[in-house]
Amino acid sequence: MQPGHAEIVGAGFGGLVAAIALAERGWTVRVHERRDTLRGEGYGIAIHKNMAHIFSSFGILDAVLAGGMKIDRRDSVDSRGQVVMTRKTDRSPYRIDRQHIIALLAERARAAGAEIRFNSHVVSADPAGAISLSDGQRLPTDLVVAADGINSAIREQLGLLKDRIWGRDCGVRINIPRRPEEIAEDDRSGTVMIEAWADRRRVLYCPVTKGEFYVLLTCTVTDTAAATSPIDPEVWARSFPHMHPLFVRMRDEADWPQSHWAHFQTIRLKRWSSGRIAVLGDAAHAMPPYLAQGAGHAMMNALGLAAAVHDAPDIEAAFIQWERRERPLTEHTQRWTRLYGTTMFLPKPLKKAWIRIEKLPWVAAQYVRVANHVPTGSTAASPPLL
Ligand SMILES: Cc1cc2nc3c(=O)[nH]c(=O)nc-3n(C[C@H](O)[C@H](O)[C@H](O)COP(=O)(O)OP(=O)(O)OC[C@H]3O[C@@H](n4cnc5c(N)ncnc54)[C@H](O)[C@@H]3O)c2cc1C
Repeated sequence: MQPGHAEIVGAGFGGLVAAIALAERGWTVRVHERRDTLRGEGYGIAIHKNMAHIFSSFGILDAVLAGGMKIDRRDSVDSRGQVVMTRKTDRSPYRIDRQHIIALLAERARAAGAEIRFNSHVVSADPAGAISLSDGQRLPTDLVVAADGINSAIREQLGLLKDRIWGRDCGVRINIPRRPEEIAEDDRSGTVMIEAWADRRRVLYCPVTKGEFYVLLTCTVTDTAAATSPIDPEVWARSFPHMHPLFVRMRDEADWPQSHWAHFQTIRLKRWSSGRIAVLGDAAHAMPPYLAQGAGHAMMNALGLAAAVHDAPDIEAAFIQWERRERPLTEHTQRWTRLYGTTMFLPKPLKKAWIRIEKLPWVAAQYVRVANHVPTGSTAASPPLL
């Protein structure tokens, strides 16, 4: 197919990777972001092999890794703080500041020739090949990429939603400053990610930069005492008494106005495209965050789309090829990340048994199957990090 012009909705992981990959394949590209700036939250994104291949293909892997921390091990602890399992983090040792990655992708997209327009709100997309903006402009185009996030208006407008499966769980991401003694501890015993489960609540935290911890709290949606902004340290300490001082710090030091509890959901579409519009990222296939693969899949599917559009004779054939190739991988991760989340609802003895089952090679392999996948369209040989 001859390169043409693409209008991309959303400057998140999916939209920016689509912009780079299409621009590199000769397309003219414009990205519309409704906010006045790139997304500001600095949460920890786990870098798996699939992402590393993409960053490496774009020549930005080293720069990406410079914006985060290498984590040496992951300790699972019980409600009293006893370590029940310790694992090396060979598979995805890096946690990187989200804002840092997004800024690098945007810079790379501009270098490839893409235009990024802020305060540009897309109100609708026409399958015949056009988008309409809130200021009344209509922009004809050869390809629309709708990467407008979990509440995608374009997906809704096109009637593409098949399932929206609400989980029983919700979560919030925050960052808090690290203390000098915590930073010094890294040199003595290595950087550690702590994961604790109790009473259907989960706490996961690790350094995301030298000066900050990234924290992910999850609980059931009915646990209204726990799911508050800011959190109540007494409520959380009932499940994890040894973490009380940490909960106080979270309450006092996190940027709560910027932090929202998200009710986890799985999105599945009837199909990933309509006419000249491709839908990708959370808009097409949101998933609970337990396997830390939402952003990875948004990027993989964006790159895969550009590759399919480049290789196929026309847009229709490209979309068919793209969805056939990528969708089974995405749905695999959606299933396994939901399964991981259900651990929270198991009674205590079963939970312990399940943690052991997860160590079985076949089960462990299912969790990381797509994280280890080499994305279609990636040109990197073998990223050096993993
Ligand atoms: C609690 C939690 C923890 C998570 N942890 C991880 C993790 O560790 N690793 C990981 O890989 N993933 C994680 N995720 C998932 C990850 O955040 C998403 O999968 C990822 O951000 C999806 O990228 P996207 O580009 O599809 O959408 P988004 O990042 O949501 O980007 C969409 C963009 O589109 C813009 N937009 C929306 N509508 C319009 C419009 N009409 N016009 C113009 N612009 C528009 C938005 O402003 C936004 O900038 C987590 C999610 C949650 C809720």
